[in-house]
Amino acid sequence: VIHSSYCIGAAAPNFESFAIARGAAFNIFHIIDKKPTIDNFSTTGCKLECIEGTVEFKNVSFSYPSRPSVKILKGLSLKIKSGETVALVGPSGSGKSTAVQLLQRLYDPDDGFITVDGKDIRTLNVQHYREHFGVVSQEPVLFGTTINNNIKYGRDSVTDEDIENAAKEANAYDFIMEFPKKFNTLVGEKGAQMSGGQKQRIAIARALIRNPKILILDEATSALDTESESVVQAALEKASKGRTTIVIAHRLSTIRSADMIVTLKDGMVVEKGTHAELMAKQGPYYSLAISQDIKKADEQMESMAYSTE
Ligand code: ADP
Ligand code: MG
Repeated sequence: VIHSSYCIGAAAPNFESFAIARGAAFNIFHIIDKKPTIDNFSTTGCKLECIEGTVEFKNVSFSYPSRPSVKILKGLSLKIKSGETVALVGPSGSGKSTAVQLLQRLYDPDDGFITVDGKDIRTLNVQHYREHFGVVSQEPVLFGTTINNNIKYGRDSVTDEDIENAAKEANAYDFIMEFPKKFNTLVGEKGAQMSGGQKQRIAIARALIRNPKILILDEATSALDTESESVVQAALEKASKGRTTIVIAHRLSTIRSADMIVTLKDGMVVEKGTHAELMAKQGPYYSLAISQDIKKADEQMESMAYSTE
């Protein structure tokens, strides 16, 4: 049984409520943290209609409002070119998820700033800004409603054509069309039994629905079987084409194929480069690779490559 994605609710409620729930979730964040910093419903600020997707973290320091004495990011600097795929790696707790949360403006830095296309993201309209992002989380949540609604996710303005295109881009179109009810198939217990890989591709289609310029992937560690993993991997590689992609990466295949690997430690960038460069340097990435058996898997892959020649 694959647990990489799960389902909430068997009924198919009014889809508006999901959009509201999404807003509420942001609010809960703030209740937990006690000190709200960002007004998620603010309509002020500049709207960027189209962006190139150049991202820069400039000396970003950050503490969570609930723990102001603990610095999580300590002068994080990082520049990502438009269209590039960057793998964030580093020990658990090093600040990877925090960094991508700041990029989505779930929090603002205490010091330093983050820019997209050279603009400080604090000057931009929050809601509008977030529409430039597609996010695939570690455990995508699917709702007990149709595939169509799961991809649409409460966004009124998307058309059936948008939904089909997103499904195609996520390598989900073919398997969806094989269901008798196609896009109207119910997800979950009363509907189609889908594999973990299929659910994840629906989640990817949801992330791509607005044709976002920046893609954020929090990669699942090991939830998928090998076959599903390669199919999801292929979908993500396709999705990252032409988009600035930041992936919190655990899988060797993702890390190796990234344009740049950035190793975080204690809220700072300690290294960046390609897989080959960082392995040759034998620094923190190399140590991490060894401890996470990346090196072993690497050798296995190389020997596999030789044996199939
Ligand atoms: P990573 O993704 O690299 O594992 P995180 O960014 O999730 O690291 O976490 C970095 C640090 O921030 C950890 O020490 C974690 O406990 C802390 N942290 C994460 N989220 C919160 C939060 N909402 N409130 C307070 N501390 C948090
Ligand atoms: Mg994390």
